[in-house]
Amino acid sequence: MTIPFIDLKTQYRALQPQIQARINAVLEHGQYIMGPEVRELEERLEGYTGAKHCITVASGTEALLISLMALGIGPGDEVITTSFTFVATAEVVVLLGAKPVFVDIEPDTCNIDASLIEAAITPRTKAIMPVSLYGQTADMDTINAIAARHGNIPVIEDAAQSFGAEYKGRKSCNLSSIGCTSFFPSKPLGCYGDGGAIFTSDDATAQACREIRVHGQSKRYVHTRLGVGGRMDTLQCAIVLAKLERFEWEIAQRLEIGARYNRLLDEIGFQRVVQRLNRTSVYGQFTVLCEDREAVQSSFKKAGIPSAVHYPVPLNEQPAYKHLCCSDCTPVAQKVAKQVMSLPMSADLSYEDQKLICQILKPGARDA
Ligand SMILES: *Cc1c(COP(=O)(O)O)cnc(C)c1O
Repeated sequence: MTIPFIDLKTQYRALQPQIQARINAVLEHGQYIMGPEVRELEERLEGYTGAKHCITVASGTEALLISLMALGIGPGDEVITTSFTFVATAEVVVLLGAKPVFVDIEPDTCNIDASLIEAAITPRTKAIMPVSLYGQTADMDTINAIAARHGNIPVIEDAAQSFGAEYKGRKSCNLSSIGCTSFFPSKPLGCYGDGGAIFTSDDATAQACREIRVHGQSKRYVHTRLGVGGRMDTLQCAIVLAKLERFEWEIAQRLEIGARYNRLLDEIGFQRVVQRLNRTSVYGQFTVLCEDREAVQSSFKKAGIPSAVHYPVPLNEQPAYKHLCCSDCTPVAQKVAKQVMSLPMSADLSYEDQKLICQILKPGARDA
C-alpha cells in the first residue's frame, strides 16, 4: 500500500457516476467549445464565491494573464508580488513587458508581507498581486487598504491554491478587485486537464476579460482589443460541475485533516509548520519547515511516502528572472525556500496514514 501525495483516484471512485454522466452529456450535445456547461459552472461559482462575475479560462496562468491584460498592463508598468510562489505569478507580468517587483514574505505564513508593500509602490505600480499560498489567503484587508490609499491600485489575488478558503467570512477569489484560480488537477478544486477562472464584481473588468478570452472579440469577427485563445473546454467545465457535488464535504475534510496534522505534530514535539493565523486554510498544501530537509525527504523516500517542495528557489533567484531584482531582495523567502516541505494532503487521506507520515518527522526518529 502506498500513500498518494494527492489522492485523485478515491475522489474519482466516489464521483464516478456523476462525472461520467456529465461527460456523456457533453459528448451527446457536442458543443465542445463554450457549451452550456461553461456558463452553468460560471453561475455556480459566482454563487459560491459571492463575486458578481466568473469568467472561466484555459488555466490559472491564463486567468492571471487575461486579468493583467484587462487592466491594460504593459511595458513600463510595475506589478508588486511575492518571490515565493509558482513561476506563473511573475511570468505573466514579464510576458506583457511589465516588471514584477518582488516583496518578501511573512516567515510564519509564507504569504506576502503586507507591511513591506507600501515601500515598493512607485508611480509605475499598476497592480498588486498577492498569492494565497498553500490554501491560506494573504492579509487581504491590509493590502486592499494600502492599494486604496495609493489611488485605488487594483489588487489581483492569485488564488490558484486557495479556492474554497475564507478570510473574515468571505470567500477567496472575492476579496479584492480581481481573484484568479486554477482547476489544475491537484488544486483544491480540480478538473481533468487545464482550467481556471477569473472573479470580479466590476462589470467593465468582467466584460474586458470575456472579450480577451476569445481573441478580443466583442461581437463575432469584431476584434475590439488584443486577446488570446483562452477558453476553458466544455468537458472540463462539466467535470468541475460534477466535482462540486462533493466539494463542501472535501473542504470540511481538508480542514479536519489539517487540524489532525497539527495535533499529531504537536504530540511528537514537531513545531515548525506553516502557521494558519485568523484565516481558514483549505490546505492546498500542508507544509512544514525542516532545517535538514534533504535528510527528511530521504527518510520519506525510504518509507515510500511522497513529499514535495513548494518552492525550492525564490523567483528572484531563477535564471530567467534574476536580472529583474537583486538576488537578496527577499531574504525571508530565500531562507524559507531551503526548508519548506509539503506532506501528502487530500480530502481522502486517512488518520492511519497521517500517523505513519508524522512518525517520520518525530524528532530523533531518524537517528535511531
Ligand atoms: C498552479 C498555480 C498557478 C497556475 O495555474 P495553472 O492552472 O497551472 O496554469 C498560478 N499560481 C499559483 C500560485 C499556482 O499554484
